[in-house]
Amino acid sequence: MDVQKDLEKIIEITKTQNKWRRTETINLIASENVMSPLAEALYMSDFMSRYAEGKPYKRFYQGTKYVDEIETLAMELMNEITQSKFCDLRPTSGTIANAAVFRVLANPGDKALIAPVQAGAHVSHTKFGTLGALGIEHIEMPYDKENMNVDIDKASKMMETIRPKFVVLGGSLYLFPHPTKEIAELAHSVGAKLVYDAAHVYGLIVGKAWSNPLAEGADFLNVSTHKTFPGPQGGAVFSNQEAEFKMVSRTIFPWFVSNHHLHRLPSTALTALEMKVYGEEYASQIVKNAKALANSLASYGFNVVGEHLGYTKSHQVAVNVRNLGGGTLVAKTLEEANIIVNKNLLPDDPPEAVGDPSGIRIGVQEMTRYGMKEGEMQEIALLMKELLVDKKDIKEVKKKVIEIRSEFLEIKYALDYDLSAISSKRIPMLI
Ligand SMILES: *Cc1c(COP(=O)(O)O)cnc(C)c1O
Repeated sequence: MDVQKDLEKIIEITKTQNKWRRTETINLIASENVMSPLAEALYMSDFMSRYAEGKPYKRFYQGTKYVDEIETLAMELMNEITQSKFCDLRPTSGTIANAAVFRVLANPGDKALIAPVQAGAHVSHTKFGTLGALGIEHIEMPYDKENMNVDIDKASKMMETIRPKFVVLGGSLYLFPHPTKEIAELAHSVGAKLVYDAAHVYGLIVGKAWSNPLAEGADFLNVSTHKTFPGPQGGAVFSNQEAEFKMVSRTIFPWFVSNHHLHRLPSTALTALEMKVYGEEYASQIVKNAKALANSLASYGFNVVGEHLGYTKSHQVAVNVRNLGGGTLVAKTLEEANIIVNKNLLPDDPPEAVGDPSGIRIGVQEMTRYGMKEGEMQEIALLMKELLVDKKDIKEVKKKVIEIRSEFLEIKYALDYDLSAISSKRIPMLI
């Protein structure tokens, strides 16, 4: 009896999640995305049950000949769209990609320079995260408040005195591009490597809406494959330098992964192909949508971060909601109306404010993938105003959210294929 009850429960929870986040919510978490139906179909395969330690054609297991083929093809496609020479898809997430590169570039006790936390540095760049686990000391480059970015002049002096093993750019609350060219030159002048962590903006880079850090002098490009790049959850390391890349690639296995979650490979390859075809259109719409949302929110009186810089150049918008009750309350209220965002520390917040920061962070990439354009961004801004400023009934706003969402259920910028022609056994996602 209990088994039956728990079985029903497992299925019910999954179905409810699918129905809620796939059909009823406006999803605006900046680090999330959805795969195309074809990528999802490919995700469910026998690869999910297998091991393939090592590299293609040099494995420590048998039964891997098709893993070799798909991993090689996926790497080729990813290198093509990234305009890079070398790629390793085995890191199971962006954090693992960072860990592998950081560990090779420095030993415990060495120093790394990172972007200021106010300019978006991720926890994995700090002693509280991956650098801490590796025993590498992090020192933040100085913050230029006016430009909401790295202060290049001060960073230059710091580079001379600290002489770090490597420098990290790229961020999590990431509205404006870090000065990659300038920092690459400074880093190289003291013999340091530049690691660009493009976890958030990788999809914008391959869609040419954000400059390619490898072309600007970065030695490594580390990414997540599921934020603006709409693939399965995972990570990757890219480089154009053979010797350095090989050192990293040799350590990913056995230092940081054993099994590398092989079911990611066909859908990562397919997503790369989709980005090759639709990437530019998709990425430019994302940036247009983020700007449109920021402008609309500002026109309704919201305190949108970065007005003097045009609010955003990425998929993100940051809003200071301190006068509306703070990030925690506002994010919770929005969720009750089926608008999903996260609370976030803003550049002027002290680190202690992490429990109730001043801001919310909004990302438009997922709803862009469902076909939303500037007009829908204005509608979303209006709903947020009705809920948070006019204090309209939450249920009323939620009804409108579900109504709008019901018109955006189909994923765009996706390749199509008649799956029924090749398999009658495809199990659809439970909705
Ligand atoms: C999200 C993020 C990561 C971590 O990526 P995971 O794939 O979640 O491990 C790393 N760096 C930055 C800048 C991020 O925003």
